[in-house]
Amino acid sequence: MRKPLMRIPYTDILPSPKIIPASAHSLQGALAALHNFFAAPPPSPLPSSTVVLTGAGLSVASGLADYRGPNGTYRVNKTYRPIYYNEFVQNHEARKRYWARSFLGWTSLQKAKPNAGHYAIRDLGDLGLISAVITQNVDSFHPKAHPHIPSLELHGYLRSTSCTTCRTEYPREDFQHQLARLNPRWADLLQEALASGALDTEDPDEKKFRGLKVNPDGDVDFPDAPYTTFRYPPCPRCLADPPIKAEGFRHTVRVDSDGAWILPSSAGVLKPNVVMFGENISNHVRSAAENAIDSAGRLLVLGTSLATYSAWRLAKRAKDRGMPIAIVNMGGVRGEDQFFVDVNPNQAGELAVRVEVSTDDLLPALVSQLRQKLSSGALPIDAPIRNHERENSSVFKDMLS
Ligand SMILES: [Zn+2]
Repeated sequence: MRKPLMRIPYTDILPSPKIIPASAHSLQGALAALHNFFAAPPPSPLPSSTVVLTGAGLSVASGLADYRGPNGTYRVNKTYRPIYYNEFVQNHEARKRYWARSFLGWTSLQKAKPNAGHYAIRDLGDLGLISAVITQNVDSFHPKAHPHIPSLELHGYLRSTSCTTCRTEYPREDFQHQLARLNPRWADLLQEALASGALDTEDPDEKKFRGLKVNPDGDVDFPDAPYTTFRYPPCPRCLADPPIKAEGFRHTVRVDSDGAWILPSSAGVLKPNVVMFGENISNHVRSAAENAIDSAGRLLVLGTSLATYSAWRLAKRAKDRGMPIAIVNMGGVRGEDQFFVDVNPNQAGELAVRVEVSTDDLLPALVSQLRQKLSSGALPIDAPIRNHERENSSVFKDMLS
């Protein structure tokens, strides 16, 4: 039995990084270092492909807040505390609050789109340089931007809800319509906020001025709103046929006259299909992520401080396999000294890169540079290994909805 891997928050602000190689302080220097990272073959017998590990920093250019960046949630809102799995599952009041906020935040998330960083990953995949993407993000931007590169969503995705009793998945968009029907006053509030542009601004000070803040889980902070009146629907399947408990008795699933879940229901609670804090990552997701690391020769880390252990241990696994690691992140990365402790100070990016530039500036420039080198034949690509990995990659695709 494997030890469960629980998602827990780590809210400390991390120290500033040591840039590697020292020439990579500028955008041009960072580009040169990453070019060398992709151009040099990884140490034998590692394959030439690269696995990418991403976090909230990559979606900042899409207008979503990250946790620890310059305007990250943990810096801007010192009292921010995400909901925990147990709290959500056990507490009707906590769910009202969660879904009220989520109801308001969903539209912004729906309007947000993948950015130049996501599309650069698609282009790197088209060049044969990327074998798989592991993301901690729940915004679905990776599968949208590059459907042909396997995306493994370590912490799930907000595009679905799932039943905490029967595990059935439903589209989050349909759920939004049901929330609007069950909460007409909130639906009006949402329409007003959309009309006034209060949900449109990307400027954190402006959002704060309007009493509004969207965090990376698509949740909006709306002070003074009465959460206690918010209603949400049950799992239709559990409502139609309440499941049998382990003790042999049938669960109770009750709704009010409009079809909203009410106590004393004991089942049929829908949750966002993400791994909440305090919830375990399923073993098949965990194994698939480990396989993605083990099938690649390099690791490229983008827009994450690796503060969650589930992500950090994947980078550690890459390090233990002797894989060159490149990290592109604004701000410090948890325990990053360990990844670079034994790196030759004279290397120029082929074994290690640590840069602090924005991914949406850096990655498109990197793509055009690598494209030129590839077309001139200056960059060796190991085609047989790449094709082999493409075939194996279906295991990750199968996990996506
Ligand atoms: Zn159900």
